[in-house]
Amino acid sequence: MGNSKTISVMDKLVSLTKRRGFIFQSSEIYGGINSCYDYGPLGIEIKKNIKDLWWKAMVYERDDIEGIDASILMHPRVWEASGHVEGFTDPLVDCKKCKARFRADQLDEAICPNTKKPITDECKSNFTDQRSFNLMFKTFMGPLEDAANQVFLRPETAQGIYVNFHNVRESARKKIPFGIAQIGKAFRNEVTPGNFIFRTREFEQMEMQYFVKPDEDEKWFEYWKDKRMNWYRRLGIREGKLRFNEHTDNELAHYAKTAFDIEYEFPFGWHEIEGIHNRTDFDLNRHMEYSGKDMRFFDDQANERYIPYIIETSIGCDRTLLTTLVDAYEEEEERVVLRLAPAVAPIKVAIFPLVKKDGMPEIAEKITNDLRGEYRIFYDDSGSIGRRYRRMDEAGTPFCITVDSETLSDGTVTIRYRDSMKQERIEQNNIKKFLHKEILSI
Ligand code: ATP
Repeated sequence: MGNSKTISVMDKLVSLTKRRGFIFQSSEIYGGINSCYDYGPLGIEIKKNIKDLWWKAMVYERDDIEGIDASILMHPRVWEASGHVEGFTDPLVDCKKCKARFRADQLDEAICPNTKKPITDECKSNFTDQRSFNLMFKTFMGPLEDAANQVFLRPETAQGIYVNFHNVRESARKKIPFGIAQIGKAFRNEVTPGNFIFRTREFEQMEMQYFVKPDEDEKWFEYWKDKRMNWYRRLGIREGKLRFNEHTDNELAHYAKTAFDIEYEFPFGWHEIEGIHNRTDFDLNRHMEYSGKDMRFFDDQANERYIPYIIETSIGCDRTLLTTLVDAYEEEEERVVLRLAPAVAPIKVAIFPLVKKDGMPEIAEKITNDLRGEYRIFYDDSGSIGRRYRRMDEAGTPFCITVDSETLSDGTVTIRYRDSMKQERIEQNNIKKFLHKEILSI
C-alpha cells in the first residue's frame, strides 16, 4: 500500500464494511485465516447484483453467448494441457532476517508486511535465492492420498469452458462466432495476497470465452475491449478512474497473442480488474493433443475445418466489488456515504414512518409490504429521522421514503435522494413506477 493517507481510506472502508455487514474476516472467532473473507448480508447483495449485471450484459442481452457451470475439480490432465502444472508459478524470495515473503517479480513496489514500509537495499541483501512456486491448490480424490489420486482446485474457470466447447456448440446449435460464459470460484495459492479482497486465495471469476475464425481474431478482440470497458458504466464507476494497460511482450502469458488489462485507480495504485486476452488456438490445440479428441470446428459455409481462436474476457467478481466500494466511498462533513449505482446498491430503498404514531407506521408498513419481493428493502422506525438517513447513506441505499403528516392528509410521501440529499414529494401510488425507473435506468 502507499502512503498513510491511502492506508487510512482502505482502513476506514474495511472497518465500515465489517460494521455494516458487507465483509467479515473468515473464521474470525478463531483469529481469522489469512486472506479469506466472508460476505455478510449487504456484501452478498452487491455481489449478486454485480453477477446479475454481468450475466445480463454477456448472456441475456445477446443470442451468441451461452452459459455453463462447470465443476471445480477436473481431470488432472486438463491442467497439464493448459500449461498450469508446468508453468503456473510465481517466483518468490524470503527475507532471512524477518521471514517475510515476496514475489520476486514485484520487488519495486513491495511493502514489508512486518515494518509496513517499502523494502530497502538492506532487506534485499537478506533475501534467499529465487524459487518457483506453483500456485495451484492440490487435494486428493478418494481415500488414498497418493500421486495417482491428486487433483487440483481450478485456478481459473476458463478450462471448464474449453473442454465443453463441443458439448455447448452441439447442444445449443451454435456456429462460430459464439461465446460461453461462466461465473464460479477459482483458487490460487498466492504468494502475497493482500489489500483486503483485492488479492485472495479463493475468489470468484466471471469469464467469457468467445470462439472466432482465426483470421477474425483482431476484429473481435477490439470489439470485446470496447464492450467490456463500456460495461463499467453500468456499475457507475467514474470514468477517469479506469484505463487500459497493454501487456508488453515480456508480460504476455504463454498462451496470449495480445492482452489488455482494464485497470482501476485504487487508493494503493492502478491495478488490474479485468483481463482481455487473445488466446489464439493455444487452448483448444492443447486439449486436442492431450485428450486425443478433435477440437476443430467444421465451417460448412467456407467448407473448411479449423481450430477457433479464443478471445477471453476474465474479470474477478470480488475485485469488482472492491472497485465499486472504493469508487463509491466518500466522507463528507456530516456523513459517510457510499454512492453506489442503484443497480449495485444492496438495499434499494428504506421506508420510515416519521414518528411512531398517528397511523404513520401502518402506512409505512403497507408500503414496505407492497415493495417486498421486488427489491431488497429495509423498514426502520427507530431513532431520529436524520440518524436513519445517515445509516442508509453509509449502506449505499439510494432512496429513502418517509411517511409524515402530509401523507395523512394528501397521500404523498417524501422521497429523499442519497446523493443530493434532496427531498421531493411523490404520490404514494407512484412509488413503484418511480423506483422501477430509477433502479433499472442503467
Ligand atoms: P494479477 O496480475 O493481479 O495476479 P492475473 O493477471 O493473474 O492477475 P488473470 O489470470 O487474468 O489475473 O485473472 C482474471 C481476473 O481474475 C483478474 O483481472 C482479477 O480480477 C481476478 N483475479 C485473479 N487473481 C485473483 C486473486 N488472487 N484474488 C482476487 N481476484 C483475482
